[in-house]
Parts: sequence; C-alpha cells; structure tokens
Amino acid sequence: MSDTLLIIEDNAQNMYMMKFLLEKAGFSIAEAENGKKGIELARKLNPKAILLDIQLPDMDGYAVLNELKQDTDLKIIPIVAVTSYAMAGDREKILDSGANGYIEKPIDPERFVESVKSYLISETAAKKNGNGNGNGSRDRE
Ligand code: MN
Repeated sequence: MSDTLLIIEDNAQNMYMMKFLLEKAGFSIAEAENGKKGIELARKLNPKAILLDIQLPDMDGYAVLNELKQDTDLKIIPIVAVTSYAMAGDREKILDSGANGYIEKPIDPERFVESVKSYLISETAAKKNGNGNGNGSRDRE
C-alpha cells in the first residue's frame, strides 16, 4: 500500500485546502473531481485512504462507497467521508454505508491532518488484512 491518499472532491477550493494540508504533512495526493474517476484511480493506485465528498456531480458519495466496499481488493482501504451535510442522521447514514470515518466541512486546518491520520490502518494491520489469504477476518466492515 502506497503513502498516496486519494481525494474525491468536486469543489476546487476544498480540494486545494485538503491537498495543501496533507502534502505539507508528507502525503502524496491523487485527485479526482468525480466518482467515476475516483473509483478508477482507487483501482490503479491502491491508496492508503480515500477522502470522499458526498455531493458529487456524477454518482454521489454513497454510490462510490457502495462500489468500493463491494470490491474485494478495495474494501480494506479506509474511506473518510468529508462532507458539509449537517442534517441530523447523516453522520450515521454515512457510517452505515461503509465509511470508516467522517470529517465535517468546513474543515478545521488545525485538526484535519490528525483526524485523517486517525483513520489510517497501521502498517501491521494493513499487512495482516492485505495478505490475500482470505481467512475472512476483518476488524470492521
Ligand atoms: Mn461536492
């Protein structure tokens, strides 16, 4: 698994801010401005985590989540929803849909990187989960 994080976000300003903060913290960033491209890049790059906007122009974030979590090779990649949906119940809906974490917009530049890091699988866990032996054990779905 690379140190690349994939950001799926259609708003250029949000993309810029997240990319800026994460690159400053030493990550490489791959960018997708829609869900289709995001899924393609996830397959190609096997990123360490995916930051996912929910309101996207083509497929919405729930559809992206669904597709990634149904893919045997991709489902162990942590997905962090980054969204301004502030209505009651959305957090739960997003986590129920398979996201591993949730960060609310507008993002807080002081805390964003630490929040993202807290959702990354440790190297050991990644190796254990990624060895392809298919013993079926997963810490969380
Ligand atoms: Mn959006």
